[in-house]
Amino acid sequence: MAKKSLYDYTFDDLSGLLLDNVDAVVIVDPAIDAYKSIIRKGMFETFLKESGIYHDLILDLWFHFNDSNEKVAGDYQIFADNTGVFKSKYSRRLKLVLEDEKISHLVQLTVYPFEDASKYIFVMDEFNDNESLQESLTTKKINTIQNTYLFSMYIDLVADTTSSINVTEISDDVVNYNLKYSDWRMMIVNMIWPEDQEQFLRRTDPEYLKKNFTPGRTSSYDCMMRNLEGKFIWVKLIFSRAQTYNDDDYRFVFMVQDINDKSMELMSTLQKYEEKAIKDPLTGVLNHGEIETQLNNALARRQSSEDPISIMMLDLDKFKEVNDNYGHAVGDTTLKHFAKILMDISVEEKALVGRWGGEEFVIVCRDKNGDAAFELAERLREKVAAYQFPDIYHITCSIGVTELAAGDDFKGAFDRLDKAMYASKHNGRNKVTKL
Ligand code: GH3
Ligand code: MG
Ligand code: MG
Repeated sequence: MAKKSLYDYTFDDLSGLLLDNVDAVVIVDPAIDAYKSIIRKGMFETFLKESGIYHDLILDLWFHFNDSNEKVAGDYQIFADNTGVFKSKYSRRLKLVLEDEKISHLVQLTVYPFEDASKYIFVMDEFNDNESLQESLTTKKINTIQNTYLFSMYIDLVADTTSSINVTEISDDVVNYNLKYSDWRMMIVNMIWPEDQEQFLRRTDPEYLKKNFTPGRTSSYDCMMRNLEGKFIWVKLIFSRAQTYNDDDYRFVFMVQDINDKSMELMSTLQKYEEKAIKDPLTGVLNHGEIETQLNNALARRQSSEDPISIMMLDLDKFKEVNDNYGHAVGDTTLKHFAKILMDISVEEKALVGRWGGEEFVIVCRDKNGDAAFELAERLREKVAAYQFPDIYHITCSIGVTELAAGDDFKGAFDRLDKAMYASKHNGRNKVTKL
C-alpha cells in the first residue's frame, strides 16, 4: 500500500491504525464475569483466551509475582472479587510472566469503561524495546520496595473502607477495592498464623485503633502470615494513623513487611541461647534453675489435677573417691556417662532430668504414681550398677522417690525426697527408697 500524506488521513482511517498498533483489546462484562478477546497479538495469544472468566483475568493481571509465573495462593484470590468497578479511565503498568516462560513482559494496561461503566474495554500493550523499559523508572524503584513490602493499603475507619491495596509486588498503583474495612479484616485474618489470629483481630479492631493511635502515630508487631505463594513467613504488620487535626478523622496506612529471613536467623539464635540457659553445660541435662522450675510446675499441676506425679533424687555413691583416685577429669566423665544413662531411660518415660548440683540429680516423673516411679528408679539403679564406666569401671547410686501429694508445698515434698535418698545411703547405698 502506498504511503499516504499526513494530511490525507481521516477519522475513518484512525480505528484501523489504532487496532493495528495495539497488542490486545478485550471487552469485559463484569455482571456475567466474562471477557471476550477482540484483538490478541504476540504474547497475548497465549495470555488471553478467545473468551474467558473475568475473575481469572483479574488474577492474572493483578495478582502475579515479580518475574515469576507462580499462581497466587487460595487465600489471596478472594481479593480478585473485590477489585471494584472502574468508573473512569484507569491505567497501570505491570509485569507478566507467561506459563512455561521465565522472562517477564512489561505491559501497559488501560481500562475504558462504557455503557455507564457496566462494561469495560481492556487495552493491553507490550513494551518490548529497551527504551521503554528504561523509561519506567517507577518500576525499578518499586522492585526494591516490593522486595520488602508484601502489600500496603489505606484504611478509613469512619467510612469503613479500604481505599487502596497493592498485592502485586511490582506496582504501587492504587487499586480501588469495594471492600469494607470490617470485611477486609475477616479476610486477612485467615492468612495469619492460627495462634496469632486472636492478636490480629484485637489489634485491628476499629475501637482498639481509635483508642490507641493519636494522629501520626505508627506502631507495628511481628507475626507469621501466608505470603502470596501460600507459605508462612515472618512479617511485620505496620499501622500508621494519618496526621490530622480533625478528631473524627481516622485514616490509617497499613503495611505488611517481609522480615522472614532476618527473623528466622534471630529465632534460631534465640533458640540456641534459650537452650543454653536451661541446660547444664557439663552433662547436657536441665540445670538447677530449670529442674527447680519443673519441680514447681509439677507441684502446681498436682494441685489442680488428679494425675499422679512423682519425683526422684539420685546421688552417686562415694563419688569423692573417684575424684581422689582418678582425678577431676575422670570424675567429670563419670558424671557425663551417669547423666546419659538417666536421659536415655527418662526420655522414653516422658520424665525430666536435671542436675541439682555436684553428683546429685533430680527427675520429675509425669503421670507416675509412687510405685511406678519406684520401678523406674530400680531400673535406673540396676542399669548404673551394671554399666562399665571409662577408667573407673563401676559406680553405684542411691535413689530417693516420693509421689507428690495434693497438699504438698515445695519444702515439704523436697524434704521427703531428701530423706528418702539419705535412707538409701544409710541402708548401704545402691538402694531405692520410697517415702
Ligand atoms: P556419698 O556416697 O555419701 O554420696 O559419698 P560422695 O563421695 O559421693 O559424697 P560427697 O558429697 O562427700 O562428695 C561429692 C563429691 O562430688 C565432692 C566433689 O568433689 C565432687 N563433685 C561435685 N561436683 C563435681 C563436678 O562437677 N566434677 C567432679 N569431677 N566432681 C564433682
Ligand atoms: Mg554422692
Ligand atoms: Mg552428694
